[in-house]
Amino acid sequence: MTAAERAATTRTTAARTTTDRDTAGPSAVRSVEPSAAPVLTAADLTAADLIADPGAHRVLTGDRPTGPLHLGHYFGTLQNRVRLQDQGVEMFVLVADYQVITDRDLADRLAEHTENLVLDYLAAGLDPERATIFAHSAVPALNQLLLPFLSLVSVAELSRNPTVKDEIAHSSQAAVNGLMFTYPVHQAADILFCKADLVPVGQDQLPHLEVARTVARRFNERYPHADGSAVFPRPRALLSEAPMLLGTDGGKMSKSRGNAVALGADEDETARIIRGARTDADRRITYDPTGRPGVSGLVLLAALCQDRAPETIAEEIGDGGAAVLKRTVIESVNEYFRPLRVRRAELATDRGHLRQVLRAGAERANAIADATLAEVREVMGAI
Ligand code: ATP
Ligand code: MG
Repeated sequence: MTAAERAATTRTTAARTTTDRDTAGPSAVRSVEPSAAPVLTAADLTAADLIADPGAHRVLTGDRPTGPLHLGHYFGTLQNRVRLQDQGVEMFVLVADYQVITDRDLADRLAEHTENLVLDYLAAGLDPERATIFAHSAVPALNQLLLPFLSLVSVAELSRNPTVKDEIAHSSQAAVNGLMFTYPVHQAADILFCKADLVPVGQDQLPHLEVARTVARRFNERYPHADGSAVFPRPRALLSEAPMLLGTDGGKMSKSRGNAVALGADEDETARIIRGARTDADRRITYDPTGRPGVSGLVLLAALCQDRAPETIAEEIGDGGAAVLKRTVIESVNEYFRPLRVRRAELATDRGHLRQVLRAGAERANAIADATLAEVREVMGAI
């Protein structure tokens, strides 16, 4: 299968995962596109409208400062962010620091994790001259949007959210806190404050994107401008060819689950972690993500690093078994990430620069958030 075909398969899967329940009804406002697909894939990145008019789009994505970014982030969203930035699409990248305390009691080593996120972004190719990089706690007007937005969703809708349920299951807290339940609505504020229409995310975020789309639609219906136009676009998710890269335990690779290879890991550490990955007893290597998730996750990782089809990699390894597979993955990862890691080490020597990137980003994000909040207050009758 070629990269384009793989992306098409992903698109089918994604379309099944997300339903466009809230396709705009009779009261829809003019500037909302009712038929726009809620999920785009890597193949759509080369879509005519993006190339022809990158200025018509705005991207927002973000990560929680809970630890170093890993290969799942890179192939799940970071690579797409850099591609979009390089195509000339306006880019906002948010450090979701408030969201750290959704599933843990303390925001442990927050400043350090935040700076390291910026380090990973810059090493991966995000350019602070073209991308606005900021922490959402530094943007008060963004957070104020949470209040009107919360009035637009029911408690039942919040408690049904599958990603919230999954995160609760992995939480270290004894009790679920209120911020955990309102987290998808906070994320809607993150996306909508800058009126982003494209959100490069991993598969686990699709239910949250649905919430953001619902909030945008309901807000636009309830509070249109005097001329009937809408305040917010309806954002669409952008999935990569690896919308859920698996970790060494066969579950979603996650910062907080001890199953990840960090972007900044050194070559020996990378080798050690991949050698410990869970595989199975079948010596013949095949690519079968449903039947053999552990083996297939490793095959996919090598394929992404080599920019080749996973089926070809699996065939080449054939009867070589897990040992050859792991050796291939280790070499592919270390080779692919070598330049990024060199850049990362260079950038790490200037922590002041990382903080300056955040300050400049916050200044720009605040100007935009203030304008959006003023517009929101106006259509709501200056609450
Ligand atoms: P945590 O364990 O603290 O929740 P995380 O590894 O899940 O960390 P997040 O900061 O929650 O990372 O996610 C940031 C972005 O990266 C989201 O868009 C998410 O969908 C994406 N992402 C995270 N893990 C993966 C993965 N394994 N594969 C693809 N995308 C991923
Ligand atoms: Mg997460």
